[in-house]
Formats: sequence, C-alpha cells, structure tokens
Amino acid sequence: MTTLTKTEGEKAPTGPDSFLSVRDLRVRFSTEDGIVKAVDGLSFDVERGRTLGIVGESGSGKSVTNLTILGLHNPKSSTVEGEILLEGKDLVTASEKEMEKLRGNKVAMIFQDPLTALSPYYTVGRQIAEPFMKHTGASKKEARERAIEMLTKVGIPQPKTRVDDYPHQFSGGMRQRAMIAMALVCDPDLLIADEPTTALDVTVQAQILDLLKDLQQEFGSAIIFITHDLGVISDMADDLLVMYSGRAVERGSVREVLREPRHPYTWGLLSSMPRLGGSTSQPLTPIPGSPPSLLNPPSGCPFHPRCTFTGEVPGDRCSTERPPLGAGRAAACHLTAEQKQTIFIDKIQPRLR
Ligand code: SF4
Repeated sequence: MTTLTKTEGEKAPTGPDSFLSVRDLRVRFSTEDGIVKAVDGLSFDVERGRTLGIVGESGSGKSVTNLTILGLHNPKSSTVEGEILLEGKDLVTASEKEMEKLRGNKVAMIFQDPLTALSPYYTVGRQIAEPFMKHTGASKKEARERAIEMLTKVGIPQPKTRVDDYPHQFSGGMRQRAMIAMALVCDPDLLIADEPTTALDVTVQAQILDLLKDLQQEFGSAIIFITHDLGVISDMADDLLVMYSGRAVERGSVREVLREPRHPYTWGLLSSMPRLGGSTSQPLTPIPGSPPSLLNPPSGCPFHPRCTFTGEVPGDRCSTERPPLGAGRAAACHLTAEQKQTIFIDKIQPRLR
C-alpha cells in the first residue's frame, strides 16, 4: 500500500514495500530576481500498486517535485537537496546516464498535453516502439508488435492500421491514450500523471481515468497523480498529499482528508470547488488573496497572509513559527486538534453541503 512519511524532513530508511521515498526534498532555482524555493522540505513515500494524489494550486511545487524525480529539472539553473530513493538508489546523486536508463523504463510520466509530448514528425507506433527497443533490446518487428498490443490495450480502434498514423491524425482523447501507451510500454513500476485529463472533455476524461485504473491493476504500477481537481483525486487516489508553497501541509488517506480535512488551506480548496450532488444554492467560497511568492515566501506558516483563522492561535505564532507536519495523518497548522474539529463542524462542513 501507499503510505506517507511519518515526519517531514526526517531521513528515515525506506519501508519494506516502499518503491519511492522522497526525503526532505529542496529544489531551488536561480533567477535574475533571486532564489526561487520551488520545493522546500518535502517528504513522502509511494508503494507499488497504489496511487498517491498530490493537490495544490499552481506554484505549490507539485509539478517541480515530479520533474525532479524524473531528473528533468535543469541542473544549470537549479539545486536539489535531500533524497529521492528509488528502491534504495538515490536519484539526487545519479548521473544523467543512470537517469536515462530509468526514465521510460522504471519510471514514466504522462503529461497534460500530448501534443507537446508526442513528436509531430514520427508515427504514433514508432514513438511507442522506440522506448521499448531502447530499454529491452527488442527488434524493430517485436517493438512494432508491442506498439500494436499497447494501442489495443488503451482502446485505440483498428490498432494495426492506426499504428502508422501521425499524432495529428488522432483526436485529443486518442492522443492521450497513445501517450499512456507510450508511458506504459516498458511496464514502469512508477507512473507519474501530471494533470493527465485537464485538456479533455468530461466524457473522455472519465474514460481515461477508468483506463488508468484498469492498467494499474494489470501492471501493478504505483501512480503519483497530480491535479488541482479534488473530484478527480477522490476517484483516483488512495492517499493524498496537499501542497502549498513547496511544502506538504496535509496528508492522509483520500477518505480521511476529504471527509474531515484539518488544514485551513484544504478547507479553502474544498469550499472553492463545486461538489457533485451538492446544493446549488450554497455559494462557492474562493480562497482570499493569491498564492505566495516563492522568491520571498511568507515567514512562519506560509498560508498565514490568506488564512482567516490566525486569530484563533494565541500570539503571533502563525506569522513567526513554521508549523511542523506531525506523524501519520496530519496537518501542518498551529490550531489544536479540538479547534480544527470544532471549526470544521461549525464553519466549514455547512459550506460543503
Ligand atoms: Fe492558518 Fe495559522 Fe494554521 Fe497557518 S498555522 S493554517 S496561518 S491557523
């Protein structure tokens, strides 16, 4: 199963089933305006056969985290600290050659926009076959057969003919399916899906999500599913990590976090999104203010400039003291457990009906 870290920032050994262990990850970019702290002390584990959802607004660090796992950050303009342990091997110190071996083989990514991930100059079949040849040493003929098999698996009609089509001859939904086929062709142990259905209409989105779930069962991959859509997460993920300002602010099983969220930022996310089957007379409540600057992040709790509950915490702790993320099911917030429960029941839950 997928479990999340016990303590943020700790350098614990990986668990017996842990496929990926991220420990105290810090990713910084040098810019003309200064140092951007894109990821600021993040830890989590992912295990085989389960899905970890990561949610947060743009700039929360979720995509940077996953590009860093794949070694796709620019080493000239960024620094990476901490550990990314893949079956015990630290990817932070791995060479580009070692990363190339892992990418597409052990770890693969499905991007939001297949048009940018698929080359317009090569047939869909060739783009699925090439990583298979590269990582398995298969012949051209074997790889073509494998590409047809993968196109069949992801539900492309007439795969024996469509294998020779170019991406522009596919519809948007079919291109997304082709990209999933490309990502899964080498049976990766970890699949990172970054907003994989955002650009698709609702019906195709549901089909793609069902397909990912079926393929996960068949291949037994672990999935990291990145999105800003909590509705999609509730359908897809087993566990959930809520990110804000490059840090994890809440974690737990999807059921726990969505049923009884404990962090004011998670309350804000839930209150600002429409709910399926919810009351249409209940207005949506946007989170006040805008996401924090990563060049100059707020002191103390990074959410404090936007939080409407700072008055419930004695003194100025919210603006001066960074709240830690405790063990297990946890939220990084100075409110006491009783306060979180009372505020949620009295003020937040009524908004979610
Ligand atoms: Fe709000 Fe303070 Fe909790 Fe941060 S620590 S979420 S500012 S109440």
